[in-house]
Amino acid sequence: MQTELADFIAGTTDGDEAQTIIGKCVHCGFCTATCPTYQLLGDELDGPRGRIYLMKQMFEGQPVTEKTQLHLDRCLTCRSCETTCPSGVQYGRLIEIGRRVAETRVERPVSQRLLRYALATVVPRRRVFGAAMEIGRFARPFLGTKLKEKIPRGQVPRAIPDRQHSRRMLLLEGCVQPSMLPNINIATRRVLDSLGVQLVSAPGAGCCGAIRMHLSQAEDGLDDVRRNIDAWWPYVDNGVEAIVMNASGCGATVKEYGHLLRNDASYAKKAARISALTKDLAELLPTFSDTLVSMIGGMCTSKVAFHPPCTLQHGQQIKGAVEGLLESIGVDVRLPTDSHLCCGSAGTYSITQPELAGKLRSNKLAALEHTEADIIVSANIGCITHLGAATDTPVRHWIELLDDLISSRPRA
Ligand code: SF4
Ligand code: SF4
Repeated sequence: MQTELADFIAGTTDGDEAQTIIGKCVHCGFCTATCPTYQLLGDELDGPRGRIYLMKQMFEGQPVTEKTQLHLDRCLTCRSCETTCPSGVQYGRLIEIGRRVAETRVERPVSQRLLRYALATVVPRRRVFGAAMEIGRFARPFLGTKLKEKIPRGQVPRAIPDRQHSRRMLLLEGCVQPSMLPNINIATRRVLDSLGVQLVSAPGAGCCGAIRMHLSQAEDGLDDVRRNIDAWWPYVDNGVEAIVMNASGCGATVKEYGHLLRNDASYAKKAARISALTKDLAELLPTFSDTLVSMIGGMCTSKVAFHPPCTLQHGQQIKGAVEGLLESIGVDVRLPTDSHLCCGSAGTYSITQPELAGKLRSNKLAALEHTEADIIVSANIGCITHLGAATDTPVRHWIELLDDLISSRPRA
């Protein structure tokens, strides 16, 4: 598809990238069939091909309306369409550019601006978010259902290992994870410790940048990216083996750092190195599969359903790794039907588009419960809390399952 860029975007980095991406689209519509919002709404403009047309028109200088913005807002950025596309259209990158442009063309109602400001200000700041979570937990009995479900019950933190190992890797603890479900980071440390790897955290590292970038606050999001690079660089210089991600949403973003800062002379090389060092647990743990089989093989007696987050299967294109590892240690692991579809969490989507997010969650939970599993595991804090708020079946990170098995194994 040819795009004649309007003056306002012609010759810019965003314009060039958008033109190249749109140029690959051959309008075949294969992507539409696997788009969750098209499946729910049945409107071409709520599918990837329709949104690409809308963005093309916008970049060509045609009027941008609230309706344009609504169709772009309704996109989950799940990137299921990228997995399906036979032409390699990088839709995820395109929608970020499209949203940024729409944001400058359409003024949002005050209520939306306030909500987006609050999300961009509170969520990425670990301490501020942690304090808000504490207050929320205290007030939980008095809150309405909608608010209550955003506040998971507190966890009793498990013991953090303090052994030193010669193998060292960095861990991104994230912005919301330490206060929402602290045992995910702790389980990650415990499992890696039992495998002879010490995880270290860099003071100063925090939100990966996704929250603000997805809210079209690109510059603020890039500040988060640069801050993380500055915090991690001394450890990279000292030879850490990898930067470990246990939230697939953060992993998908950190793997994009090289691309995001490709034109920043001071950070481009460092950003590319950081992205190259980044590994999701789903990539790292299978390298220890023989040890895990000998440690905990055959110990799991529960039936386990796995929900693969979009940021893992579409964003990072990691498919089958978690299920394969769990199966290798004898876990009865089950995938729900339509496992390629989003659960509706999608960063802040469940807050900005609650109705669609609720429908996607109901569909996902029905599919997961149909597997008759005893527990549901996933790989991203957003999916875990979103699903966990609407089912009695326990929903956990799969690394917590491994931690439980390792902790309960008989000692020699
Ligand atoms: S990212 Fe997901 S919701 Fe958005 S157009 Fe692609 S498939 Fe549809
Ligand atoms: S599948 Fe790819 S090429 Fe076909 S319409 Fe969708 S984005 Fe365009």
